[in-house]
Amino acid sequence: MFDHIIARYGEIGLKGHNRSEFEKILAANMCRCLAPWPGVKVSRIEGRMLVHLNGTPVEPVRDALERVFGIVSLSPVERVPADLEAIGQAAVRVVNGAELAPGSGHTFKVEAKRADKRFPFPSPDIARRVGAYVLRRLKDWSVDVHQPAVTVFVEVREDGAFVYGTRWPGAGGLPVGSSGRVGLLLSGGIDSPVAGWLAMKRGAEVEAIHFHSYPFTSERALQKVQVLAQILADWGGRVHLHVVHFTDVQTAIRKHCPEALGITVMRRMMFRIAAVIAERRGLLALVTGESLGQVASQTLESLRVINDVIRLPVLRPLIAEDKVDIMRRAREIGTYETSILPYEDCCTLFVPKNPRTRPSLAEAEKAERDLAVEDLVRQAADRTEMQTFHARRGVDAGLNGVS
Ligand code: ATP
Ligand code: MG
Repeated sequence: MFDHIIARYGEIGLKGHNRSEFEKILAANMCRCLAPWPGVKVSRIEGRMLVHLNGTPVEPVRDALERVFGIVSLSPVERVPADLEAIGQAAVRVVNGAELAPGSGHTFKVEAKRADKRFPFPSPDIARRVGAYVLRRLKDWSVDVHQPAVTVFVEVREDGAFVYGTRWPGAGGLPVGSSGRVGLLLSGGIDSPVAGWLAMKRGAEVEAIHFHSYPFTSERALQKVQVLAQILADWGGRVHLHVVHFTDVQTAIRKHCPEALGITVMRRMMFRIAAVIAERRGLLALVTGESLGQVASQTLESLRVINDVIRLPVLRPLIAEDKVDIMRRAREIGTYETSILPYEDCCTLFVPKNPRTRPSLAEAEKAERDLAVEDLVRQAADRTEMQTFHARRGVDAGLNGVS
């Protein structure tokens, strides 16, 4: 019975003259994710998107749209001619088809909106008349305007009337591509994929940067990161993954720097290399999964000393998050199962026995005195390899990307 889906967007509406730009990006993102169903079309109607199903079932389209950032909520709707008989019949179908919460009674109400002022009845009148129609057809239902089990929404427009009863939450946020491009430092851990997802949710297009230390770290560690990049792509569309061969840098650090400052120097090198890649790719900021105090390298002193080597803004969406909350989010977005696979990361490889948890800038600079910083950074940046992941759609994406 449902032949359309209404997709509502929240914040975009507030963006003044940028609004139509945002709407264009959102519509394009929706069309891209609906590509597996060529019959499905998207059009813009007053502050919302209207998805024309043209015979495609609601469920797979809903699943796809639930991953599109920028959509606040979705409703399956039936479009009928703008007359009370047709609207009444559709309202009966909505009430009959509603999934009731356990224990809730057979109560409903009708909320009506008259967008087409030429329609002969004002909104409260439409609600009353449609309600009466439903009561006549469904004898065991009654009206409860305060706490109904089902609310039937009726919207009378020039091109017909929309009738619906459900509102599913959308992914929220802003459409990917509306906030520019960022470089995500993507490890195989739990945090950084979540940080990348949050950056996407705020409209950023993400290019992932991964530091790989083969043969100290295995091919499987890299495959894990590739799966994570794929899952992020399933959410936000295309994700490029830059794989930085980091072995020479790590070997040089081990050889030339005091052990206690190894992690600090390593992370400064990561930032420097990432900044070069960002410069070359036109990325406006870096994103990390750092969270204040979580580990030794994430004290304020450490963050300051690591941050000191670049001028690019570093976004840390998880800075104030507790680990349990990050883990919950990782499960929700489908990255957790991959993140907990036990393959070692280049960070865990050279962990010193007594790392400096509160390094000073002077110490870090001194520790790098014998390191050929510029050469190492340039060589690593030059040897970077790029892979591209595209969103899997339909059946594949339903697997949540975990393999
Ligand atoms: P994560 O769970 O994201 O790995 P973490 O708690 O293990 O984070 P660290 O290992 O200190 O923390 O790393 C902090 C951040 O540095 C990560 O969130 C990530 O953004 C970045 N990072 C760490 N290792 C790598 C790597 N091998 N490649 C790319 N980025 C990395
Ligand atoms: Mg890590």
